[in-house]
Amino acid sequence: MPGLEDLYREIILDHYRSPRNRGELSVPPATKAEGFNPLCGDEVVLCLDIDPDSDVVRDVKIDGQGCSISQASTSMMSSAVKGKPIDEARKLIRAFKALMSIHESKLERESDGSDLTAELEGARLGDLEALQGVVKFPVRIKCATLAWNTLQQGLDERESVDA
Ligand code: ZN
Repeated sequence: MPGLEDLYREIILDHYRSPRNRGELSVPPATKAEGFNPLCGDEVVLCLDIDPDSDVVRDVKIDGQGCSISQASTSMMSSAVKGKPIDEARKLIRAFKALMSIHESKLERESDGSDLTAELEGARLGDLEALQGVVKFPVRIKCATLAWNTLQQGLDERESVDA
């Protein structure tokens, strides 16, 4: 019977080989954000189409290149936020970063990270949990969070244009 790590590896490879929502959207009306992780050479290009009335992320398109962790994370992020309101997308950003830091603090201090567990409550990470294995390799955490930092940047940019 395959272990959890094998299952996680399969999920990551599946997203890497068949990235969801690959492509581009015309800007404007879409918002474009780009992220780069110099430690590994990962690139993420993200296009967000956000409904100005309902603040729902109507469409997400991704592009980029880099290691399997960064590209799989980008693919997972795109399917996780598509169709979600902005505030839920932001909640997912926080939850994903908490997932990365819970395990990081566990490894460093053997703490249970209970203060961060609250962040995860109510957030359904699904496939994203497959990425929690990367926290064993601190240098890869930046690969996994790149897509989410880029998403945050895209949402911030759009809000500053609106204001
Ligand atoms: Zn990488």
